[in-house]
Amino acid sequence: MIYRAFLIKYSEIGIKGKNRYVFEDALCARINENLSRISDGFVTVREQGRIFLSCPEDYDYDRTVRELKKIFGVWAICPVKVIPDNSFESLTQATGDYVEEVYGDKEITFKVEARRADKRYPIESPKICADMGDYLLRRFKNLKVDVRDPQVRIHVEVRNNAYVYSEIIRGPGGMPVGANGRAMLLLSGGIDSPVAGYMIAKRGVTVDAVYFHAPPYTSEQALQKVIDLAQIISAYTGPIRLHVVNFTDIQLDIIEKCPRDELTIIMRRYMMRLAEHFARECGSLGLVTGESIGQVASQTMQSLAVTNAVCGMPVYRPLIAFDKQDIIDISEKIGTYETSIEPYEDCCTIFVAKHPVTKPLLHVIEKSEKKLEGSVEELVEKAIKTVRIINVTSSRIYDKGTPYAE
Ligand code: ATP
Ligand code: MG
Repeated sequence: MIYRAFLIKYSEIGIKGKNRYVFEDALCARINENLSRISDGFVTVREQGRIFLSCPEDYDYDRTVRELKKIFGVWAICPVKVIPDNSFESLTQATGDYVEEVYGDKEITFKVEARRADKRYPIESPKICADMGDYLLRRFKNLKVDVRDPQVRIHVEVRNNAYVYSEIIRGPGGMPVGANGRAMLLLSGGIDSPVAGYMIAKRGVTVDAVYFHAPPYTSEQALQKVIDLAQIISAYTGPIRLHVVNFTDIQLDIIEKCPRDELTIIMRRYMMRLAEHFARECGSLGLVTGESIGQVASQTMQSLAVTNAVCGMPVYRPLIAFDKQDIIDISEKIGTYETSIEPYEDCCTIFVAKHPVTKPLLHVIEKSEKKLEGSVEELVEKAIKTVRIINVTSSRIYDKGTPYAE
């Protein structure tokens, strides 16, 4: 069967009224964006509760399905046969032709499921099912009806046209990116933060990212690894503006003046402050990290509270209650794992104390940070001024060097 169209289903729960348009707009935009990499001949049309996608001649079916499977908000992808004449006679005939072409003389149990989007259609859905079922039984000796647990459900949807389909390919679910505002992801080269970015984007949030680089202590390969990770997740999230911040001087200042066992926590607080600065510049409404309770010393409940105390905007931690193995499973599924485990060092691990504080107290940390007064402000300003912004998309990376250049 050569399909020339798809019905794209999305989960309708919770998207009523005005939200529905925002959701559908974002979904159509993402579909058009992803498929434009294959051809410019795809056309999306909204239909009640679904998106209808018509495909150009000679399009690549497998690649199209692969692209659609990466789009958040897509609940199911149904390759459909379009029946332009929706009179019942033509509908039954064409549905029979579809069954013949797809199932041939295979012995199958089936059930017809009809949906009448156009309520003016003269035959009601239960009667469409019954009459269509009868017709198919008469035409094919190898078919048997099973209304409880059929092997094949033959869906007939009557709209201006009619559609027939029986294959339902699951999409990733979630909400289309762009439907729910923007957030700034703290992206390191580890396993967790790329997964966190993927998960927040799955809720319809557009993702920007910031990486704290500490040359010469962290290498160019470490930076390249982060760019690679951004590129892998951008296949799902859409383009990412990756902010590369030179963190070396701030880190050295902390090392020089603050207790070594507090280094990680103080560093983390400076990362949050800087991330928030860039988040505001980008119009982001929150920060996103890959933190998970108890994973390491800087992620105990006490440490998270002290880190959180510097943030003036919400910090979203999609992995907060995940076990490491569950995070690894997702990273394998989305294709970031192999890159994440490359061995290049992270700025957090280089000078880290043997026994970092696990139960930091806010007033103690704030007192230590006082020692940075008079020097760190200028270093923070310099880090902001010298940020390098790399635009990462799944097909290319371009580095204009200037902030916010599209
Ligand atoms: P990950 O696997 O995401 O690196 P991790 O288990 O190594 O996480 P930490 O190193 O404690 O944990 O980092 C916790 C979170 O802080 C990360 O998930 C990330 O969001 C942020 N983070 C850590 N280091 C950096 C960095 N160099 N640049 C940007 N964000 C960072
Ligand atoms: Mg890390």
